[in-house]
Amino acid sequence: MNVNISALATPGVRKITPYQPGRPAEAVAAEFGIAKPIKLASNENPLGPSPQGIKAMQTVHNLARYPDGNGTVLKEKIAARHDLDVACITLGNGSNDILEFVCRAFVNPGDEVIFSRHAFAVYPLATRAVGGKPVETPALNWGCDLDAMRRVVTDRSKVIFIANPNNPTGTWLAAAELKSFLAEVPDHVIVVIDEAYAEYVTARVYPDYPDCTQWLADYSNLLVTRTFSKIFGLAGLRVGYGVSSPEIADYLNRVRQPFNVNSLAQAAAVGALDDDSHLRLSRETNQTGMAYLMDACTARGLNYIPSAGNFLAIDFSRPTQDLFEAMMQQGVIVRPIANYGMPDFLRVTIGTEDENQRFIEVMDKVLETGGLEANV
Ligand SMILES: *Cc1c(COP(=O)(O)O)cnc(C)c1O
Repeated sequence: MNVNISALATPGVRKITPYQPGRPAEAVAAEFGIAKPIKLASNENPLGPSPQGIKAMQTVHNLARYPDGNGTVLKEKIAARHDLDVACITLGNGSNDILEFVCRAFVNPGDEVIFSRHAFAVYPLATRAVGGKPVETPALNWGCDLDAMRRVVTDRSKVIFIANPNNPTGTWLAAAELKSFLAEVPDHVIVVIDEAYAEYVTARVYPDYPDCTQWLADYSNLLVTRTFSKIFGLAGLRVGYGVSSPEIADYLNRVRQPFNVNSLAQAAAVGALDDDSHLRLSRETNQTGMAYLMDACTARGLNYIPSAGNFLAIDFSRPTQDLFEAMMQQGVIVRPIANYGMPDFLRVTIGTEDENQRFIEVMDKVLETGGLEANV
């Protein structure tokens, strides 16, 4: 029997380009025989998970029981953190889950979903999975161009995704421009502000950066997503959340699995939310490392996109696939972003001081020898 499986898949799913994750350190270690590769490829917290999160996780004993399907304690904690009602919170298996819920709950086949060029890869993926029509707007200085977005809104538009800051560019939008945009978006469009990196954005460096979780009262079509995968250091546990009007949250909750966030993840997230010192240290480490990498790039005549996140997109003014591979052979894993329309860039996650130095050393070595050719 020779079944044409492709013909059975839905048209939207057939068009999906699978998400490309960063290479796991273990795989690189095995392939290149490197004892301890460093991974600066997935914007994870180089300091590891919140110790208070781990401690809280270790109090979970009876894994024979289902998790709390309502995530009661975690939701209360999140609600208190943002001074919101618990009815505004939706928990996700990573914030990725929330991005999918919004498409499944609101996007009909043929409905338009708007996002910027160079925006997070999950937006087109979640759109296509439900038969939605991706509408990509041109970027402005690598970032999201809100005027371009305004111009493509139609009667068929249903969702707008905006990452603030955006991954992989690190670009960000200020409060005033986002506010006037939200005020103009028609009622039939849900605006998702993806704040996966919000905790890294410091008021001192970016005084105009908005905390959109505080805007729900003004915009009933607003959904803001946050994650425990980045500054809280719990990427492996998969937990994130959305905040929105209770009405939006109601529909998001209808499409999620009843037990989408596991017990360990819920407990760790509750603990992590109390861990101010881990949060502070993570932010400071990021700031110091970011400054170091920016200076190192400038000293070498390399351009980069100024970033409000925990990563830096560096412009090598030439295709970077061979640089990426040569660095990997030296035990430093970064992320090529040609699939984001940025073939001349590499995205580097800010690591510990040692990791950042190692990255620069390896980058120097690889650039000196001209990339992969020298290693062959
Ligand atoms: C990392 C990231 C996320 C978070 O994904 P999780 O599913 O919460 O791990 C969401 N949005 C953007 C832009 C990201 O870079």
